[in-house]
Amino acid sequence: MQWNIVPEYVSLVFLSILLVYSWDANLLPTMKNRLFHFCLRFVLLEIVLSIVSIYAIEQYARLPILLNQLIQMAFFLAMPVMALLFLFYVIALSKENDSILSRRFQVAAIPYGMYAVLVMTNPLTGFLFHIDAKVGFYNGKGFWVVYAVPILYLIVMYRVILRSRERIEKNQRLILMTFPSVTLAVIVIQLFLHDVVLSGTAATASLLILYLFLQNRKIMQDDLTGFQNRKALLNVLDFQSKRNTRMSFLFVSLDDFKVVNDRYGQMNGDAILQAVSRFLAGIVPTRAIYRYSGDEFIIIFDKDIRMKVADVLEIVKRRFNEPWPFFEASCKLSASLATADFPDHAETVEDIITLLEYCIFTSKGTGKGKVIQADADMVGRFRRRGRIVESMRQGLQGNGFEVHYQPIFSVREDCYTTAEALLRLHDSELGNIPPSEFIPLAEETGLIVEIGSYVIHEVGRFLHELDLLDIEIEGISINLSALQLTEGDLAEVLTSAVRLHKIHPRQLGLEITESVFLDNPKRVAGLMQLLCSRGFLFYLDDFGTGYSNISNVVSLPFSYVKIDKSILYQAVSSMKGFHVLEGLTRMFSDSGMKLILEGVETEEQKALSKAVSVDHLQGYLFSRPLPAPEVIALFHGRRHKPQGLGRK
Ligand code: C2E
Ligand code: CA
Ligand code: CA
Repeated sequence: MQWNIVPEYVSLVFLSILLVYSWDANLLPTMKNRLFHFCLRFVLLEIVLSIVSIYAIEQYARLPILLNQLIQMAFFLAMPVMALLFLFYVIALSKENDSILSRRFQVAAIPYGMYAVLVMTNPLTGFLFHIDAKVGFYNGKGFWVVYAVPILYLIVMYRVILRSRERIEKNQRLILMTFPSVTLAVIVIQLFLHDVVLSGTAATASLLILYLFLQNRKIMQDDLTGFQNRKALLNVLDFQSKRNTRMSFLFVSLDDFKVVNDRYGQMNGDAILQAVSRFLAGIVPTRAIYRYSGDEFIIIFDKDIRMKVADVLEIVKRRFNEPWPFFEASCKLSASLATADFPDHAETVEDIITLLEYCIFTSKGTGKGKVIQADADMVGRFRRRGRIVESMRQGLQGNGFEVHYQPIFSVREDCYTTAEALLRLHDSELGNIPPSEFIPLAEETGLIVEIGSYVIHEVGRFLHELDLLDIEIEGISINLSALQLTEGDLAEVLTSAVRLHKIHPRQLGLEITESVFLDNPKRVAGLMQLLCSRGFLFYLDDFGTGYSNISNVVSLPFSYVKIDKSILYQAVSSMKGFHVLEGLTRMFSDSGMKLILEGVETEEQKALSKAVSVDHLQGYLFSRPLPAPEVIALFHGRRHKPQGLGRK
């Protein structure tokens, strides 16, 4: 029989190109990368063996039988290896730790081991094939095993790919499916075209697809700077941390780069970034630098980098005193810098990245061009933050959050009429965490949206409970953060909460500060109008701090204004302060808004608040925020009126 081995020659050419093109001395020695390169070389060998074996079969009369036997055995031994290697590759992608990997590899190799025994004993048994000086090559009665072993591997491969949904993304899974699919297709084609040899073509096609989509260096590279990208960084960190490699990090984050882009345009912005990249590449080897985000770079110092972090930090710091050239011009830039060590400052990859981000975040909070080096104190604060975030997550599962209520005293009615809901967080390790600490973190992590919904429902439930107990209360106000108004479906959450807990929207007061108008004033104003039309009342919280802007208050549908305690304290300490308070209260009440004075702590402050026209008083003098049962007791019957206030 005459064989057509042209496809094998073509594959050989393609494979050689691929081998040269994918050569990268700096490639991370992960199991996946090593397997891919081993596969490449192995397929090359397999194709050569395939060509030699066909040649030997055709020339059987001229070759010594023993030599022919050996050539065929070598080919038969090599044949299913590609499928096995590919299965290893898929397992390496889908498994998390090396010890599991090697066990899986051993199990996967068992069928091949048995097959290899059949090949080695074939000269005695003739089970797989025969080589005869007269008739040449012909199949043995167990020839089907030669197909059965790779097919078995293909089936297992499908199974592994399909079962690794959590660890391998959908796109990657589709790409990985190529190998078993192409190989099966080739086996079917081979059944019809006996004389065309396609085994090498199948393997080459699969490797090419793998290279293009999964192994291509470009996937890990940033186009603009040529540095490795964030994906590459995460891969390296994952790899090195599993080996407990000591590493130091330098995080370089350009300050206000958005402003640079806005002022000079995107093209110039890119040129400036390239100038910074060239500078960084001039001090440390490029393979150590990663473009973490648009205007952020991370340099990893491991044992192969000779320079010390502190020295590089100094050089970078100094360079930012000079202008950066772009095209015909130049501009000044500043960068916030942070350093940290692994594993000294953080034990996991995620932690080291978040620690660096935290350092940069803290440094930017104190100004531009600052350097923060992670130390025990910083790490302590960082860990506390992590613990608090964890604690809030647990709180949302029903373990740690509790809503307290601070009664609010009505001057006219001479008793408590409303209350403010204030969230409390208790952690088994850290104890009580103040809202001033956990609320900003909840806002930063976005957890506030979910926490906000939790508070809304808790308060809704409590109002319903008060109703069942026949306790009259005008309402309870809750605090809303900006994110709740700009993201999430606040209107929906509020509306369904009042429906579910059978309360009136008016009873669920909504406290917001002026800062919520900073980001998206139109959207917030629109949402306020919508909620007002559904019967909710708005309270302007902390008036007198931060962004106080009278026009906001007047143009927006606020029913209450809560005057911040700082204004009250000023009013007590100076005549000028008193006039400010007096003017404010008159203006608001003339505009039809009700006033609540916050932070009343002393009799003196209480007396002063009477001299101005406020409707409600809130403060420690009356009551601290209390847990629900104590508020119930306080609001119940006679105790409605605060003790000691009868003297008024
Ligand atoms: P806020 O809305 O201004 O709440 C009033 C704060 O003043 C409360 O602090 C309260 O305990 C405190 N306070 C009450 N009376 C007095 C007083 O006489 N003197 C002094 N010095 N302070 C008094 P707290 O409970 O620590 O809450 C702090 C902040 O945390 C709140 O300030 C609010 O902005 C935020 N917060 C609390 N709960 C929530 C919540 O559920 N959601 C959101 N988004 N923020 C909340
Ligand atoms: Ca408030
Ligand atoms: Ca307040």
